[in-house]
This record gives sequence, structure tokens and C-alpha cells, in this order.
Amino acid sequence: MNTYSNYVAGKDVPAADGRTFTAFNPTTGGVWGTFALAGPTEVDRAVKAASEAFRTGPWGALSPTRRGRLLMKWGEVIAEHADRIATIETEQNGKLFAEMRAQARIAQDWLYYFGGLADKIEGTVIPLDRQSILNYTLREPLGVVGVITPWNSPTFIAIMSLAPALAAGNTIVLKPSEITSASAIELARLAELAGIPPGVINVVTGFRETGEALVDHPLVAKVSFTGSVGAGRAIAARAGQRLVSCMLELGGKSPNIVFDDANLDQAEAGVLAGIFAAAGQTCVAGSRAYIHESIYDTFVDRLVRRAQQITIGDPLLATTQMGPVATKMQLEKDESMVARAVSEGAKVLCGGGRPAIAEFPGGYFYQPTIVHQLTKDNFLMRNEVFGPVLAVTPFKDEAEVLALANDTEFGLAAGVWTHDIRRAHKMARALESGTVWVNTYRALTFNSPFGGYKASGIGRQNGIEAVYQYLQTKSVWCELGDEVQDPFIMKV
Ligand code: NAD
Repeated sequence: MNTYSNYVAGKDVPAADGRTFTAFNPTTGGVWGTFALAGPTEVDRAVKAASEAFRTGPWGALSPTRRGRLLMKWGEVIAEHADRIATIETEQNGKLFAEMRAQARIAQDWLYYFGGLADKIEGTVIPLDRQSILNYTLREPLGVVGVITPWNSPTFIAIMSLAPALAAGNTIVLKPSEITSASAIELARLAELAGIPPGVINVVTGFRETGEALVDHPLVAKVSFTGSVGAGRAIAARAGQRLVSCMLELGGKSPNIVFDDANLDQAEAGVLAGIFAAAGQTCVAGSRAYIHESIYDTFVDRLVRRAQQITIGDPLLATTQMGPVATKMQLEKDESMVARAVSEGAKVLCGGGRPAIAEFPGGYFYQPTIVHQLTKDNFLMRNEVFGPVLAVTPFKDEAEVLALANDTEFGLAAGVWTHDIRRAHKMARALESGTVWVNTYRALTFNSPFGGYKASGIGRQNGIEAVYQYLQTKSVWCELGDEVQDPFIMKV
């Protein structure tokens, strides 16, 4: 049995009232471990530790260059421990070990990039009309950033969120998902192994209430949240009460559009990767595929055939292509959303049930599922499933598919498959989403901005602009002349 406490200022801190909670292994359905259930007392302790590390502790005193080097070292240490981190994550969320390991390894790229950026954060000198005044800006960190993360890519999302905030000079209290809390604590321990001082990264574990206590804490200067739209709305409303800003990375219902002139082998692989990778549990899941009417029947047949061949089973094995979904609740959500789609007139082309996996009778497995004949107002077309469920729809031309693709509250990502270069760029401009992939899907890296349009989020991860979200600008005015100011008239 695995046992974890909160991690505060470099120490394991159990809940003061001794409360714990249990996490499960979705492959077996058995208990994986127990975690301390952090209440307001532990959250307060963690935020105060982070605040002290920021204000009086070593983090604030370090030069940006040294800070950056420590982030880079952290990346190296995480990469060295990638296998162990990935095993923990796979056992907790059921995603493929190979993918979890790749994510733990490439965390290093993020920490190199943002570590390198730490000493390139510069102010400017403003050329004022009034030349006797020297006016310049300082880019200053905010203080303690409260980071709340989901379960689907725990290390990857934690690093994407923490790296720019730390590079900017802030300190952190991280509240990972209750489903996958272990790797966050391991990451914080590895940070100290890399030389990042205790108190810079603190971890509190628990459910929604723990996250709420973090958002409400008066010393938390900014909230970085990745998760569902519903929770994002609730968190933004709470943070708004304190006038604290939020970076929000939320859900999606992303369209993946296949024109008849596309390379259909590439498009087939891209549509499948878009929805069945990670059992559909990615924010960018291409869950609405629009296929040109002239190729609809043959292309959908190809998708169905491939979907039926996906190897489902133990996510720790290299031969497995799809593991279980992460929770029993998610499994039941997949089932109920498909049932509702059918009751609203949809037809299931493949999947639509639990596969029989002999070795794991208690596992949370769901078949790769393709449904069609949905109207645009079918519940499944409007809501994120976060499971391996693809809705396919034919279209006749660009105008029609654009209207269908944009007819959603979400705007996280979109895919376009075509060889027509003019069409590709016209579509890229017209699609209302933070990322558009042309002839590729599910590509993401540290130096290209990522985030949502519309209800899919506020702010951007990755790329230079990510770091500015964790800084505030101070304008300094310095009179160099001897002129005495008229006390009643503003100086301009
Ligand atoms: P979730 O919103 O249920 O939970 C995310 C985190 O927020 C957890 O740590 C949870 O304990 C906490 N939480 C939930 N409600 C809260 C509240 N009211 N106040 C404070 N904390 C709260 O999401 P999930 O099920 O863990 O993850 C799946 C969702 O995350 C999907 O919607 C997916 O699209 C989204 N996601 C988005 C991105 C992105 O980058 N845009 C990436 C991954 C996942």
C-alpha cells in the first residue's frame, strides 16, 4: 500500500485531524494508496511556507540566472526518474506507461526553455515627451501561485504550469487531482534533490474543498487551473471575489475535419489518434469528426475497422494501445453519454460497451466507440465526454463544415486534413480555436502557445507569453531635473 502526506517546506505533513483518502488503480479496480486529506489548516501552512520562501527565503534572493539553472537541473533529475514517475502515473490513471514516460522525459524541455527565459525577463525604458523624467518598467513576480491540476497528464500539466510561474520568480502551492496525487509529491521531492529550496514548491492533497481553500487563501496571488469547464467557472468566480486573476486551461469538443483531397492514410491515423489515444482522455480530443460526403462511407468504414483492432489491456505493457479510463465515474459517464446519444437518435457503429478483459475483470475499460447520425444539438455533440467516443458527421462544403465546427461553446483545438493550401489557411483563420492542426493532430511543445478560445480557457501555456502571466509590471517615474511641481496640476 502506498502512503503519502502533504508536502510542505520540504517535509511530509499529515492532515492535522488525521483524515486521509484513498486512490484506486483503474486497471484492477483495487486500492492504490492513501493520501492526507488537506483542509484549510494544511493549505494555510503550505501557502505560508511558499510566501516565506518568496518574501524572505532563498528563492526571492536568487538571481534569475541561478533560478533558471535550478529549473534546468530539476528537468534533468525528473528525466532520470522518468520510469518511476511514469509507473506511478500509469498505476493511478491507467494511461499508457509509454506515454507517461515520454511526458516525464520531455518535462526537461519545458524546464530548459523556461529556465533559460528566467534571465531574459526585461523591463523597458519609456521615451516620454517630458525628457526630465526617467520612466522605466520593472517586471515583478506576483508571490504565491496556487496551481490546481487534473489527472490525465499529471506531471506534464504540473510542469507546464509550474515552469513559467517559477521562472518568473514566484513560489508554488500545487493541488493535484485526488485521482493522481502521488507524482506531484514525487516532483516536489525531486525539485529539492535538484537544489530548489524547500518551500518553493509545496503540495497539498485532497478534493474540490482543498482546491477551494487554496483559491480562497489571501496570500495566493494568482490561480493556475487546468481541468473541466465547470470547475474553471467556479474557481474563476471564487478568485474574482478576491480580485485575483486566473490562468484557465479547460475542456474541449474539438472538430477534426477531413476533406476529400486529404492524404486519407494520414487523416485516418490522425482522426484515430485524436480520439482514441489516452482512451479519449485528452483535453484536445478530436471528438467530432466531420468527413466530406464524397468519402464519408469509405472513410468511416476504415475508422471502424481500425477502432475494432485497437489492443485494449494492461497499460504497463508496450503492446497495449488503449488502457482503462481513469475512474469508475468516468466509465459510467462514457456509458451514459452514449446511451443518451442513442436515445436522441444516434446509431453506434462500433464499441459502445465494456470489453471483456480476462485478466482485469474489475478494470474500468470501455471500447473505442464511433457513433453517427447525430444532430448538431445532440447532447453528445455539445458536451465533452473525456472518453473514447467519436461522433462522425458528413459535410458538403467549407462553409457548412465551418458553421458546424464553430457551433460550440468550446474552442481548444481543431484539425484540418487537406492538400489544398489555400483552403488550409482559410480554415485555420476561420476556426474559432486556440490551436489549429493542418495534416497533423495532437502536436504540442514548450515554445508554441497553447490555450483556449471561448469557454476553453483564459491565458496561454507554453511559449514566451506564458511567463508574462506570472509577472506584474511596475512603472517607475524618476524626476531628474530641479523643477518644482505645481501641486494642483497633474504632470504629463
Ligand atoms: P476537474 O475539473 O474535475 O478537476 C481538476 C482539478 O480541480 C482537480 O484537482 C480537482 O480536485 C479540482 N477541483 C474541481 N472542482 C474544483 C473547485 N470547484 N474548486 C477548486 N478545485 C476544484 O477535471 P478532471 O476530471 O481532473 O480533468 C479532466 C478535465 O480537464 C477535462 O475537462 C479536460 O478537458 C480538462 N483538461 C484541460 C487541459 C487543457 O490544457 N486545456 C488539459 C488536461 C485536462
